[in-house]
Amino acid sequence: MSEPLIYELSKPGRKGIVMPEPDVPTYELPAELLRKTGSVPLPEVSQIDVTRHFTRLSQRNMSIDTNLYPLGSCTMKYNPRINEDMARLPGFAMLHPLQDTSTAQGALSLMYELQTMLAEIAGFAAVSLQPAAGAHGELTGILMMRAYHRDRGDHNRTRMLIPDSAHGTNPASSAMAGLQVVEIPSDTRGNVDLEALRAQLDDTVCGLMITNPNTLGMFEEHIEEVVNLVHAAGGLVYGDGANMNALLGIAKPGEIGFDVMHYNLHKTFSTPHGGGGPGSGPVAVAKHLADFLPGPIVQVKSSPDHTVFEWHMPVKSIGRMRAFWGNFGMLVRAYTYIRVHGEEGLRAVSQNAVLNANYIQARVKHIYPVPQGERYCMHEFVAQGKFADAPGIRALDVAKRLMDYNFHPPTNYFPLIVPEALMIEPTETESKETLDSFVEALLSIAEEAHTNPALVKDAPHTAPMRRLDEVRAAKELVLCCRLDLAETGD
Ligand SMILES: *Cc1c(COP(=O)(O)O)cnc(C)c1O
Repeated sequence: MSEPLIYELSKPGRKGIVMPEPDVPTYELPAELLRKTGSVPLPEVSQIDVTRHFTRLSQRNMSIDTNLYPLGSCTMKYNPRINEDMARLPGFAMLHPLQDTSTAQGALSLMYELQTMLAEIAGFAAVSLQPAAGAHGELTGILMMRAYHRDRGDHNRTRMLIPDSAHGTNPASSAMAGLQVVEIPSDTRGNVDLEALRAQLDDTVCGLMITNPNTLGMFEEHIEEVVNLVHAAGGLVYGDGANMNALLGIAKPGEIGFDVMHYNLHKTFSTPHGGGGPGSGPVAVAKHLADFLPGPIVQVKSSPDHTVFEWHMPVKSIGRMRAFWGNFGMLVRAYTYIRVHGEEGLRAVSQNAVLNANYIQARVKHIYPVPQGERYCMHEFVAQGKFADAPGIRALDVAKRLMDYNFHPPTNYFPLIVPEALMIEPTETESKETLDSFVEALLSIAEEAHTNPALVKDAPHTAPMRRLDEVRAAKELVLCCRLDLAETGD
């Protein structure tokens, strides 16, 4: 099934919009700015052509608005529509980032409150809202850790310890910050191997980057000991907060002793996550790192008769990590989500997220091996898409076949330490009926793997595209729908 390109729908003279009368003085463009060759090769199409074209394309995507999206580690939770209403309030949506702060006090106060709420949620002293994604928050946090050691005259701390269950961004961010990455193995219960950790700790360790619960969906059973060991060696502990959906209102990484952590507002706090849209990865720090935060951050100046919010550069700041003030629209959405839920509501979010994941795990683990299946999981768990008596079937086949059952595939082949991994995170927003249908689909696919393996191997059968050559797509990246345009630079 091939969709025409929007250019192929073009008919000379056809129009989709009427330009409004200009409300500013008209102005002759200087000759040197005028186009020298031909007309702009834009499609000439009617409004209904455009609407139908893009609506059809959008319907080919699986999304959280159409299907369960149990993409482990990514927390694809429903994005409540009230977030969108708030982000579209003209007072927020029409702000200009260069506007004088005296005319944007509402926006600054929202950012100040969000900084404060995020600090409270995970038990930290201060927050910067600048980073634009989790990975960007990681780089920010690591640069702060380095700055902290250097500030104390401790120049030899060049190694970052990272458990083998970590997300790929952790070693990537560490390497980008100029550190040497040292992998720490996990033990058989899915925890950091304490002996292996001890063996690496010395005065060259910048710190440990740890995800808790980790990407196996396991809460680190010795987390306090891990933190104490790293601190005793003079290192700092970086918390990858991508899995905060398991801990809201239940445990605070800052109180456990983490020194710095990022949040993924597009995971835990329900801001939109797909389509390459902007993310947001604020970083939170304990007191001893607060002076190093990237700035400016919002501070409040109160006098008896009025309160003023203003920008403030922390004294030893690592500098700016992003232009302007972060992805402000995302900050409004996350703020709304937190305010709508309140403290009790956020706790219920995590409790239900953990309950839903355990429900699925309990119902499938006799069919799909779960290496850590003797423990309760947190908000996600890792099963294996392999069957002893159907050796031809792999996790990828199960994932693709799930699309025929109208489910987005779970994360697969990650974490790397579990062969044929299927990492399942249902989130709290799914009903028991939806969870049951998903379980039934997984069980049917396991049945098919034995009775009709070709059906599973050749899946998906119903999707508009079959299996893609992902390596080729990544190596020969074509982002322009007309190669002739890409070549002329038009
Ligand atoms: C998603 C994720 C990240 C990276 O976050 P982005 O916002 O995608 O950059 C890092 N670590 C873990 C465990 C994650 O799940």
